[in-house]
Amino acid sequence: MRVLGIESSCDETGVALYDTERGLLGQALFSQIDMHAAYGGVVPELASRDHVRRLLPLVRQVLSEAGCGPEQVDGVAFTAGPGLAGALLVGAGVGRSLAYGWGVPAVAVHHMEGHLLAPLLEEDGPAFPFVALLVSGGHSLLLEARALGDYRPLGESVDDAAGEAFDKVAKMMGLGYPGGPRVAALAEKGQAGRFRFPRPMTDRPGLDMSFSGLKTFTLNTINDLGGAEALSDQDRADIALAFQDAVVDTLVIKCRRAMEQTGGERLVVAGGVSANRALREKLDAAMAKRGVRVFYPGLAYCTDNGAMIAYAGALRLVAGEHSGLPIAVRPRWPLAELAPLPA
Ligand code: ATP
Ligand code: MG
Ligand code: FE
Repeated sequence: MRVLGIESSCDETGVALYDTERGLLGQALFSQIDMHAAYGGVVPELASRDHVRRLLPLVRQVLSEAGCGPEQVDGVAFTAGPGLAGALLVGAGVGRSLAYGWGVPAVAVHHMEGHLLAPLLEEDGPAFPFVALLVSGGHSLLLEARALGDYRPLGESVDDAAGEAFDKVAKMMGLGYPGGPRVAALAEKGQAGRFRFPRPMTDRPGLDMSFSGLKTFTLNTINDLGGAEALSDQDRADIALAFQDAVVDTLVIKCRRAMEQTGGERLVVAGGVSANRALREKLDAAMAKRGVRVFYPGLAYCTDNGAMIAYAGALRLVAGEHSGLPIAVRPRWPLAELAPLPA
């Protein structure tokens, strides 16, 4: 079965074609980052309008690169939530309509299920059940994935998401958006030990997380040095390293606890922050000690992309799930509301 996947939940337009026999046949991604940069963040109305401009040309490009005509597409998957309402409506409207026009089924995909399943696109990906840490721009979640659609929440951030904290710290130091990769690059040049940031919510039991206090701690550190303008390159690098170490250690501690609590042997880490090299190194080391294997998406599939939506949609279509004709999106949609598919 060949499934066209469409992602448009925020500021990336992603399209991909996934074949359940042959794997990924083609994909294309357009990032609107440059367009929103001037405003210091994503402007929802601009995002929707740009998805309108990009989507059909990207669909044509992916089909042509895959050497496929529309008659060779067996289903269409689109992100139906969570995300920006207008942006979601563009992808859902185009996806649902293409499926109708081509006479094939459509399926609505949960964006976070897309992230969650992205490591399964890799060769030798994990089998269910597994524990997952989803760390992205809008979510920090720990859950137990027992089967497709069967996700038991274990913990979540009570305030900012991990990626959001990276973005805000980057903004404080004038590094631009998205902050994750820039803070990570700066941290490479940082001196360990100059600053020590707290590891929030690790001194008491539980799997919930909090990252907003770290952001305040970072701001206070910057102000103690005379404010953002007074920082030297070395100051910035040292702060980036201290901040990243704190986030990474916190996530490692929470993952260790989650594996202890569930007795699981496989850990999936996905979402934009899973691209972070320091996180991967420390987590791999900590989990290897426990005999737990960690699975990540390929670096290109950590942040938003069409491939993860095509893949999640393909699994659901193969299991017999179809979405009806109405074009519906859910800007707010807890992952735990998904249900296991009927056997
Ligand atoms: P959500 O998936 O929760 O709706 P989103 O789609 O905006 O949010 P993603 O595309 O999964 O989030 O990830 C983007 C986030 O990942 C940004 O916050 C970005 O700063 C962060 N990020 C990307 N690369 C890295 C990195 N190397 N280190 C740390 N953070 C990173
Ligand atoms: Mg994005
Ligand atoms: Fe995302």
